[in-house]
Amino acid sequence: MIELPVPVPVPGCATCAEFQKDLRAVEPQTSAETDVRVLWRRHQAAEHGITVPEVRI
Ligand SMILES: [Zn+2]
Repeated sequence: MIELPVPVPVPGCATCAEFQKDLRAVEPQTSAETDVRVLWRRHQAAEHGITVPEVRI
């Protein structure tokens, strides 16, 4: 199990806004929520150069 911090949307990025909306739409603590976080973080790393160390629990 990997606990992923919620990414911070980058101002002015439509993709980040989309991911934020998706995250609100899914049930918390589900695999669907984890998927959104992973995809969002992957986008942030690729497009914004933002990487957050993963915390394994
Ligand atoms: Zn973005």
